[in-house]
Amino acid sequence: MPPNTIKTDVLIIGASAAGLMCAIEAGKRGRKVMVLDHANKPGKKILMSGGGRCNFTNTDISASNYISHNPHFCKSALSRYTQWDFIALVNEYQIPYHERDLGKLFCNDSAKDILNMLLAECKKAKVSIHLDCNIKNIGQKENGAFEVESSLGIFQTASLVIASGGLSIPKMCASPLGYKVAEQFGHHIWPTTAGLVPFTLQPRDKESLAELSGIAVDSCVSNERIQFNENILFTHRGLSGPAILQISSYWQAGEAISINLLPALDLVDFIKKRQAAQPNIKLKTALAEVLPKRLIPAVLGQETADKPLQELSQVRIEAIAKQLQHWQIKPNGTEGYRTAEVTLGGVDCNELSSKTMESGKVAGLYFIGEVVDVTGWLGGYNFQWAWSSGWCAGQVV
Ligand SMILES: Cc1cc2nc3c(=O)[nH]c(=O)nc-3n(C[C@H](O)[C@H](O)[C@H](O)COP(=O)(O)OP(=O)(O)OC[C@H]3O[C@@H](n4cnc5c(N)ncnc54)[C@H](O)[C@@H]3O)c2cc1C
Repeated sequence: MPPNTIKTDVLIIGASAAGLMCAIEAGKRGRKVMVLDHANKPGKKILMSGGGRCNFTNTDISASNYISHNPHFCKSALSRYTQWDFIALVNEYQIPYHERDLGKLFCNDSAKDILNMLLAECKKAKVSIHLDCNIKNIGQKENGAFEVESSLGIFQTASLVIASGGLSIPKMCASPLGYKVAEQFGHHIWPTTAGLVPFTLQPRDKESLAELSGIAVDSCVSNERIQFNENILFTHRGLSGPAILQISSYWQAGEAISINLLPALDLVDFIKKRQAAQPNIKLKTALAEVLPKRLIPAVLGQETADKPLQELSQVRIEAIAKQLQHWQIKPNGTEGYRTAEVTLGGVDCNELSSKTMESGKVAGLYFIGEVVDVTGWLGGYNFQWAWSSGWCAGQVV
């Protein structure tokens, strides 16, 4: 053994959501745990999450909120360490939080509360965290121990946990290390793409919708496979907002999405009632009761928006309703990993134990969190996966 080799029971690469949770659980069991990270601070993504308030979990969690080539894989971990377990920990630390729409739980004050809680638990469990640590090489000795060469020396461990996350937001220290380690040890990786990411628009749409920047509308956004009822947001770059981020994880290049800008309204009936009551007013004036003013000509065209209601036939009214309630937009692409909240694809679940996250190919090697091919919806689901998968590995490493 080289003289500067540091021996530990458990070595975790990635000091963020999944890695810290695993470290806490393993440390509580009396294991000697070290966590390495190339960033200069732990939990950078926790700090930037949920607009700085960390949407740390959701009251309503099931496997149907996750995307994976093996949709059953996440069930075991999510049921063994649930949102209620994490909420109990948050309560123990008296962190103030609140519930927003669709069961999303956010800190009242700051995402720092969640990170500080995890770091306090790490301290209690005697976990040591080493930052600014560049991983140079990972190998396995004949006796099965892993040897990790790094800028801080050589680490030797019986259990190696990869918690290095996905590719989203390279500026926040994202790297492909986890996928490379998986490949090195013979694992199959499902191709990765950016998820929960804004859409960019075709040049023509970009120009016609540019002036809508800043407008948010409660919508139902769908494709042939799924639909989401949440806000959409027009930006100077394209389309964003929760419903758009959600559908982006289910979008394939070249495909159109359908936007219902008035999901709760019988629009034909609405226009006909206004037509009977005020036949002289313009369509845009009537629609301004239910939609932002600037949006109406942008979707319908100025000529239609300016039509007096009395000039609209039944067929025309139905066509207008279709335009507003089945608005077809073909995105040009997504903003990519630069702004994506998550990475779809990753380490193939079929080669991992759903109970422990251990590799089925190499004993002692574990993959947890976002590096695994389990991607949650927007709404606290990704952190819950990180907590649950980290907790499961932490029981056995
Ligand atoms: C802007 C934004 C907002 C988000 N908001 C939410 C939210 O509110 N709720 C929610 O549920 N999810 C949210 N997410 C998603 C969530 O942050 C991730 O799914 C979650 O952090 C994944 O946890 P992880 O521990 O697997 O990976 P990460 O949190 O990405 O952590 C990986 C760690 O590994 C380290 N690392 C990477 N490569 C190397 C390397 N080569 N050597 C050493 N260390 C390395 C990184 O520095 C990092 O500390 C958000 C994501 C983003 C980008």
